[in-house]
Amino acid sequence: MMDRRSFLKDSAGMAAAAGAVPAVARAQPGGAYDVAVVGAGAFGGWIALVLRERGLKVLSIDEYGPANPRASSAGETRSIRSGYGAQAIYSSWAATALKMWKLRQAEFGRTILYPNDRIELANAWSPSMLAQRKIFDDLKIPYEVLDQAALRVRYPQMNFDDVSFAFIEKSSAAVIKARESMIVVSEVFQKKGGAFRIARAVPGAATGRHMTTLKLNDGTEVAAGQVVFACGPWSAKMFPKLMGRKVDVYRSEYYYWGVPAGDDRFSWPKQPAWHDHIVGGYGFGSIERGLKYSPAALGRVAQDPDTAERLATDYLLKRGRDYIGHRFPDMRDAPILETRVCQIEATADDHFVIDTHPDYDNVWLASGGGGHGFKHGPLVGEYVADRLMGKATDPETDKLFRLASRPDLQPTGAGAA
Ligand SMILES: Cc1cc2nc3c(=O)[nH]c(=O)nc-3n(C[C@H](O)[C@H](O)[C@H](O)COP(=O)(O)OP(=O)(O)OC[C@H]3O[C@@H](n4cnc5c(N)ncnc54)[C@H](O)[C@@H]3O)c2cc1C
Repeated sequence: MMDRRSFLKDSAGMAAAAGAVPAVARAQPGGAYDVAVVGAGAFGGWIALVLRERGLKVLSIDEYGPANPRASSAGETRSIRSGYGAQAIYSSWAATALKMWKLRQAEFGRTILYPNDRIELANAWSPSMLAQRKIFDDLKIPYEVLDQAALRVRYPQMNFDDVSFAFIEKSSAAVIKARESMIVVSEVFQKKGGAFRIARAVPGAATGRHMTTLKLNDGTEVAAGQVVFACGPWSAKMFPKLMGRKVDVYRSEYYYWGVPAGDDRFSWPKQPAWHDHIVGGYGFGSIERGLKYSPAALGRVAQDPDTAERLATDYLLKRGRDYIGHRFPDMRDAPILETRVCQIEATADDHFVIDTHPDYDNVWLASGGGGHGFKHGPLVGEYVADRLMGKATDPETDKLFRLASRPDLQPTGAGAA
């Protein structure tokens, strides 16, 4: 693996060849960092850790702290799945990321991963599901297809009266403790010599196409050779002109139902994760907090990640109760024990934005996780570190994640065009 000395030497070489001295190649004056990463969520947290592990001097900054309750990475749990319809890149990324999470779990020495079946309930093979089945065949990812009768035998706690079949992911799916794992990532980052600060950061001074400092809300400035903005749902607030028409930030709610006493049918590992292509929504078996279900929202409600109240919406609570009673008859009268309101930061085509800032050669943008970015954290960390350190990456992936490749969109709640 490239260490800091050889990286600086190589970068200087590359820079000399390119006739410019990239930021990190310049020995950082005094207390300057090689890299400052703004945002300690699933994207920024992993980017900072991987860069630190590669020997760089890294500062991780978050205005509210890692996995803070406003952040999209702060949910108790998130799902890891390889089922992505026709989007093969995310199927293979998810399969790789799952392997990385398993290694990290061993390193962290605590249980954060809960492997389970993931069932997609359907009545017809949509083009997206047909494409997914082919991708699973091509990537040799194991799966099963069970009809209604077989589903009733395998998962008797669920009602399949309106379901013809299910596509079942076997070894490529898991539930991950999201909030907990992001706190561990930040702890391990600091244990490995990374610096962490709670502060709101904005772009600071610049010389030509080189941003030299970040300005912090306490009036101080920090210098860094390179800067990564991994601000998730705050990216459009940070760069309104650049990101304002590229990402949409809207609410997403889910709730936890209390399982019956002494009854483990609705809990991991007996209860699989599921995605309902018929009624809508998805959920996981209980891991500590209850049976989780997120009803389909039937439309987007814009959300300001700083100021929005995280209180559940009545009509979605009703949709959730009706659904649980339908899909889990023995849970019809179960109490809702907890509710969560989070925000999704999605691009028009649901692809990530990982690219340099158009005005600065040493500034990186890493966001656009949408409703699916958490699982990819470890791989996003490696990928961005490779890009930032000038290591070869897949040009097709680079192109896919380019900011300019994202279609413009009309953000939810924004005034009519
Ligand atoms: C309800 C819901 C369910 C989801 N389910 C899944 C799932 O099952 N599987 C999956 O893989 N993904 C899922 N996702 C998506 C996933 O959670 C996100 O894609 C991912 O967490 C995004 O991480 P992030 O680091 O980009 O953003 P965040 O986690 O929001 O992190 C951004 C951080 O930047 C900080 N920040 C912002 N601006 C500044 C600033 N100026 N200065 C300092 N700090 C700043 C914030 O405090 C925040 O901590 C879900 C998302 C939601 C909302």
